Amino acid sequence: MAECSRCGRSGEALYKLTNLPGLICKDCFITYYEKKVKNCVIKYEMLRGVKNIGVAVSGGKDSMALARVLSRLFPDIHLKLIHINLGIPSYSNECQKIVEKFADENSIDLIIYNIRELEGYSIDSFSKLPYVKRMCGVCGIVKRYLMNKIAYENRLDALATGHNLDDTVETLFKSYLKGDIEEIVRIRPLLPSTHPKLVKKIKPLIEMTERENLLYVTLTNTMHVDVKCPFFKDSRMMKRKKLISMLEEEIKNFKYIFFKSHLKKIQPVLSKVIVEPALRECKVCGMPTIKDVCSYCKITSKMVTVVER
Ligand code: SF4
Ligand SMILES: [Zn+2]
Ligand SMILES: [Zn+2]
Repeated sequence: MAECSRCGRSGEALYKLTNLPGLICKDCFITYYEKKVKNCVIKYEMLRGVKNIGVAVSGGKDSMALARVLSRLFPDIHLKLIHINLGIPSYSNECQKIVEKFADENSIDLIIYNIRELEGYSIDSFSKLPYVKRMCGVCGIVKRYLMNKIAYENRLDALATGHNLDDTVETLFKSYLKGDIEEIVRIRPLLPSTHPKLVKKIKPLIEMTERENLLYVTLTNTMHVDVKCPFFKDSRMMKRKKLISMLEEEIKNFKYIFFKSHLKKIQPVLSKVIVEPALRECKVCGMPTIKDVCSYCKITSKMVTVVER
């Protein structure tokens, strides 16, 4: 009978992960997962000087795994979950319900930011604009901007996001293909605050794969949304992820090796020659930006024009 490669127990469900030798049981997986996240947080000094931390939660498996693992590993740090209700029909309210239930059951503070009520538009409003072909890009600008603003206004020391290893390697791969050096330099586990209104960003799950996060939420009975956003159609991204997973099947630990060589060898050299543009305050909203007007004000100004017509 098959047995767990760590504790030797048999007779219970065992799981296979491409980056681990042999099979692993539920308890050993949870121990392995939490230890790996803890080591990552310590190694990159993500929580140095941090007492209050904002956790961006969409309701999906990665961000719910993040909320669960941080609450278990760092009980002395004050967590505040931040959820943005994007106003996407048949999707956003489901996400909000999951996040609310999790926060309630685990007694964790939660901020719900409903963009329809507070900003006067929703993400699907952009589908009526020329942005229809790049909804996820626009949604990313909205979420990044609002998450930072909420974290700043709530005086949080850091904002944690659920970026996983698969996302990171896919972004790296895309940036290399495009030769986007500025983006390549920014791919790292911690982005320090370089402006008083820019909150430090940390990615505690950057070394965990999508599959590990899914297994963690499943084995710890952590609720997460199953419904897919109707705008999720980025087939190029999915193709790149599929290709990367095929490489992982052939080359053991490919994702981790690729990420590590970027972080240890390439990023430090590039960061010496690529000067990050200085931040100033947006002329419209006062939040940090590299241009006169930030991307958020730029895209939402087009929305106002449409609404006013
Ligand atoms: S799939 Fe795209 S539009 Fe939908 S929530 Fe995710 S980033 Fe936003
Ligand atoms: Zn075991
Ligand atoms: Zn602005």
